[in-house]
Amino acid sequence: MKNSIETDEHTKQIPASEADPKTAPKGTDSILFDVEGMHCASCVNNVEKAIKKVQGVEDVTVNLATEKATVSYRTGETDTTKIVDAVEQAGYQTRVETLQFSVKGMHCASCVGNVEGAILRTPGVKDVSVNLATEKATVRVIPGTINPSKLVEIVQDAGYQAELINEVDRASQTDRQKKEREQELNSIKQSLMIAATFSIPIFLIEMASHFITPFHSWLSASVGMQNLYYLFFVLASVVQFGPGLRFYKQGWPSLRRGTPDMNSLVMLGTTAAYGYSVVATFFPQVLPSGTVNVYFEASAVIVTLILSGRYMEAIAKGRTSESIKRLLSLQAKNARIIRNGKEMEVPVEQVQIGDTILVRPGEKIPVDGEVVDGDSYVDESMISGEPIPVHKTKGDEMVGGTINKNGSIRFKATKIGADTVLAQIIKMVEEAQGSKLPIQSLVNKVTSYFVPAVITLALLTFGIWFIWGPDPALTFALVNAVAVLIIACPCAMGLATPTSIMVGTGKAAEMGVLFRQGDALQALRNTDVIVLDKTGTLTKGEPELTDFEVVEGYESNKILQLVASAENRSEHPIAEAIVKAARDKKVELAEADDFNAKPGFGIETTVNGTRVFVGADRFMTQLKLDISHFDEVRDHLTKEGKTPIYVAMDDKLVAVMAVADPIKESTPAAIKELHQLDLKVAMITGDNEQTARAIANELGIDEVVAEVLPEDKANAVKQLQSNGRKVTFVGDGINDAPALAQADVGIAIGTGTDVAIESAEVVLMSGDLRNVPNAIALSNSTIRNIKENLFWAFVYNIILIPLAAGALYPAFGILLSPIFAAGAMAVSSVFVLGNALRLKRFRPPMKVVNG
Ligand code: ADP
Ligand code: MG
Repeated sequence: MKNSIETDEHTKQIPASEADPKTAPKGTDSILFDVEGMHCASCVNNVEKAIKKVQGVEDVTVNLATEKATVSYRTGETDTTKIVDAVEQAGYQTRVETLQFSVKGMHCASCVGNVEGAILRTPGVKDVSVNLATEKATVRVIPGTINPSKLVEIVQDAGYQAELINEVDRASQTDRQKKEREQELNSIKQSLMIAATFSIPIFLIEMASHFITPFHSWLSASVGMQNLYYLFFVLASVVQFGPGLRFYKQGWPSLRRGTPDMNSLVMLGTTAAYGYSVVATFFPQVLPSGTVNVYFEASAVIVTLILSGRYMEAIAKGRTSESIKRLLSLQAKNARIIRNGKEMEVPVEQVQIGDTILVRPGEKIPVDGEVVDGDSYVDESMISGEPIPVHKTKGDEMVGGTINKNGSIRFKATKIGADTVLAQIIKMVEEAQGSKLPIQSLVNKVTSYFVPAVITLALLTFGIWFIWGPDPALTFALVNAVAVLIIACPCAMGLATPTSIMVGTGKAAEMGVLFRQGDALQALRNTDVIVLDKTGTLTKGEPELTDFEVVEGYESNKILQLVASAENRSEHPIAEAIVKAARDKKVELAEADDFNAKPGFGIETTVNGTRVFVGADRFMTQLKLDISHFDEVRDHLTKEGKTPIYVAMDDKLVAVMAVADPIKESTPAAIKELHQLDLKVAMITGDNEQTARAIANELGIDEVVAEVLPEDKANAVKQLQSNGRKVTFVGDGINDAPALAQADVGIAIGTGTDVAIESAEVVLMSGDLRNVPNAIALSNSTIRNIKENLFWAFVYNIILIPLAAGALYPAFGILLSPIFAAGAMAVSSVFVLGNALRLKRFRPPMKVVNG
């Protein structure tokens, strides 16, 4: 990627006149941070509600699968600390990271107070302790919201010297995330092992005595049923308050706040079964005769099964985030910097802007920067998708995470930490993975009523069986109510969309397609028309001067010199082509004054006292010049797909030139594939109508809108959108930004300008248009996958809740034991996750070098 990507502002950068309601006002910022302790869709709702209540928060998206929250907020009104506090008050945890700084220049307790105060006021900081004796500050921050070097600056602004000593847990981000996943996995595994060890004996004895009558007789004769119950009580208690304690810890607070979640359901269900059994074991006299039964096997096995479901979920979740891991692994760990004339190796977090960094052959470029010295080829394929190493020498940009090939190079760090291109890409992918699709808002509405509804339903089930049920009514009532509580956990529903989005956007990133906004994943598949910008998108954007004809009586070299001198001030690709042609011919360029670029028309300027005009035919017409002299030449040029450029001097037409911009090799195949997907393909360009038609014909493009002024591109898109057609616009230039914003989906070319990237929802890392049909195909597959997941998650509940409530009992005598309910519930989550992981096998229809 040539330019950095700004993702702080998700809002589209479009002129105010065209602003749509999606556009946030100035002074909005966004953070992305980890939220721990969410287990179901209703937890997601709880966290979202809590954050939304914070004054100044504009938009919240919480994702269950990535366990991340994305919040955009107005900077004046709130800060990250308040937002994070709200999450914790709602009963969930955010991940914190501990940083340690050495602080010099403190002499007394009030200095300590100053430093602490300054750090604490920084958004993203949770707490700080400064030690005067050791001259150290230990700061706990919310990862992702603040850069260590920012804290150094803040302490320096307060009048002290600070330096990051190390990140206390030392591990880089990749390792840390891996470690955390492993810890979570291990803790669940341990709980599961204990739960299984203590549940299996109860389960086996219970089942055996149930089905094998002689065994039952032998048991009651030798051990005695009452003694057996005591044994069960001991075993079940270990499960209930050992591994099962987590359900109380998480379920009780949320139940008390009136926002019950999945843990509350498990807690209620198992407590009911366990509690009833305790009463039946120790105080059988309080129960009506015939209802003295124990369900220790139910409470213990439910805990075990739910834990095994969680364990499998944790494994699967780890696999959904592999693409982020791949990106994270691109980050360098260390950098060799030159400070005070000394060469030293430091962790990459300690590199500061302006540091000189030395990179040897084969090493990774640690941060972004600008070459000051040396000469080498750099493999940038991981960032740009361009497989051929790029030559770098003084003044060239370096991108962190890319690999230096053959030469030694010195460069100055210009961007570090969260500002580097790689960090921005990672943030972009994380945000897309964490974003919500329109399809999900319905799911959310359903699940927010779901858990309370289930509790009500369980109570109803209990009541109905208790009043009208057969004897022993209390037993039936209890067992069925517990089954309802357990079966109805909306776990699969909560996982259905986010897991597919994670795998889908991750897969996209692997293909070189970055979704800046997850909505595009859903919107892309509805595309009717693909609109392509011509220059730089369909074509290489590197035109060459091919023809040059002058009016009789003028000397062509003289005119080329004037034109090239004039164009030297312009940044248009056409200008570059003309200047390059002149340089190749060793033409000396002169100074141009009074330069004036007329976007969409051409340029005018003064060279050596001569007024020079260069531009399109409409520019000449505007100048009231007669261009019919070159009509024949023009027809000939445009038929070949070349762009005619007219030159006038002091109000006289003197020459016509032509530039041709070669079409990218990948373009024809991409357009064919788009047609195969039954899409209309249109082209918008500022270029000459005939030239545009010639190129469109060659490529089989269906609709052409030519000679469009830059400011009218968005209008042209709007026109194509009439009749409700959904338009996806692909472009690269600054002048494409309004069109990218206007389109239903904007796709920017990653090698294009920052402005275009900021206005787009999707970024193609390389300029290869074959990734457009690939992205559409992926969008189709992902949404289909989500629908499958939702179907199974809902069908499972719709069928099994009545079954658990005992609806089939009166007619068929069928009841669902709570144990089967727990098994089914675990299976449904695992099923959904497994289905989402199938997306990993998605094969893009078209091969792109980037792979
Ligand atoms: P596009 O992005 O499709 O090339 P532009 O709006 O940038 O469209 O340019 C439209 C036309 O204006 C060009 O095809 C060319 O004829 C003319 N033009 C614009 N800038 C220049 C320039 N610097 N020199 C010569 N012609 C120019
Ligand atoms: Mg362009």
